[in-house]
Amino acid sequence: MKILDIIPGTSVDGPGLRTAIYVAGCRHECRGCHNPQSWDFDAGREMSLDEIIAEVELHGFDVTLTGGDPLYRAQELLPLVREITRRGYTVWCYTGFTYPAVLSLPGAEELLSMCEVLVDGPFIEEERDISLHFRGSANQRLIDLTRSNPEQIILWQPEEF
Ligand code: SF4
Repeated sequence: MKILDIIPGTSVDGPGLRTAIYVAGCRHECRGCHNPQSWDFDAGREMSLDEIIAEVELHGFDVTLTGGDPLYRAQELLPLVREITRRGYTVWCYTGFTYPAVLSLPGAEELLSMCEVLVDGPFIEEERDISLHFRGSANQRLIDLTRSNPEQIILWQPEEF
């Protein structure tokens, strides 16, 4: 799959140090997007599942899927996320879609069933707030997927930062 970058040791995409996997492609076109180069679905380089897993294992951090918007490639990402979670890592996922609307995308429901937290919603420049943890604008939510369902959304609560 097309990967823009893999950054180990990030502390801004979820609690603790994490390996952030930047998946290419996004159509949300949020005004003020921090990374418009990520919109191109053909950007980055093709990486195999084994190559990505090797990067994750090399550093041993939990994983965050970001981009771009990884949910456009939910179906394609399923084998990777299955393997990451099978190896005992937790997964956070960012999307510009809102939950539960995102569940209608192919593969999204299964992918999110393996994730711990979904950071949902587009970046809204008017709601930008640099004091927020792990999100850029106040409309975005840190949804605890281990306790939420489409009818009842429970926000993730940090134990500590
Ligand atoms: S969803 Fe994220 S990557 Fe996509 S346009 Fe919005 S801010 Fe940029």
